[in-house]
Amino acid sequence: MQEAEFQDAEELIRWAAERFPKRLALVTSFQREGMVILDIAARLAPQIPVFTLDTGRLPEATYRMIEKVRERYGIAVNMIFPDAGETARMTTAHGPNLFRADSSSRLLCCQVRKVRPLAKAMAPFEATLVGLRREQGETRATLEQVNWRATPVKLAPLAAWTAAEVSQYSEQHSVPEHPLYAEGYRSIGCDPCTRAVQRKEDERAGRWWWESDTAKECGLHFTADGRAQRRVDVLLEEVLGHSA
Ligand code: SF4
Repeated sequence: MQEAEFQDAEELIRWAAERFPKRLALVTSFQREGMVILDIAARLAPQIPVFTLDTGRLPEATYRMIEKVRERYGIAVNMIFPDAGETARMTTAHGPNLFRADSSSRLLCCQVRKVRPLAKAMAPFEATLVGLRREQGETRATLEQVNWRATPVKLAPLAAWTAAEVSQYSEQHSVPEHPLYAEGYRSIGCDPCTRAVQRKEDERAGRWWWESDTAKECGLHFTADGRAQRRVDVLLEEVLGHSA
């Protein structure tokens, strides 16, 4: 199937479990969307391994959420960590809070703490389930339900869902909710780079709010503007000690 369009999330997840046996992973940061997918997968295909990225800068509430998920679903959560040497070189050279300096430094931090460790952990897999939705902002408006060009193939079962549909599913199935939603957060990531937002603000307004001129993505799902990317490549080469 090349241009798969599935009627609902369950159909896609069931198909993916058959299409990529032992080569399908669920990657989640335990936001509402990821939890809906995890809940569906736990019912339909509990053999799908669950991964999360511990950047080293997560809020305490996310660790409590991980404990809750382990208890509720009786599953192991595979923890992915950044390379200790790369993180040490980066923070020694640029400081622990380098992300405040400029967008290139922020992208470098996301490369070292998120993009590189995730790519390494997902290398054995053919496909990953992710909780992205088209409604989440301009950069995701054209999100494909099945992205065959991505490596691994990226599957977004909730691509067409609205935030209201996600909430409705969560309530109907008593899906555990990340504690930070109760504090006004609508998008949850690293502690220093995420804040609560006003009701009328965009869902992604609470991410890297000090950056007004760049797309608010971390490089996991979107490539930043060319200028910033080139500079971040230079910074990354310095951290790695060779060509990135
Ligand atoms: S979200 Fe912030 S702290 Fe987390 S990896 Fe990106 S820049 Fe670093």
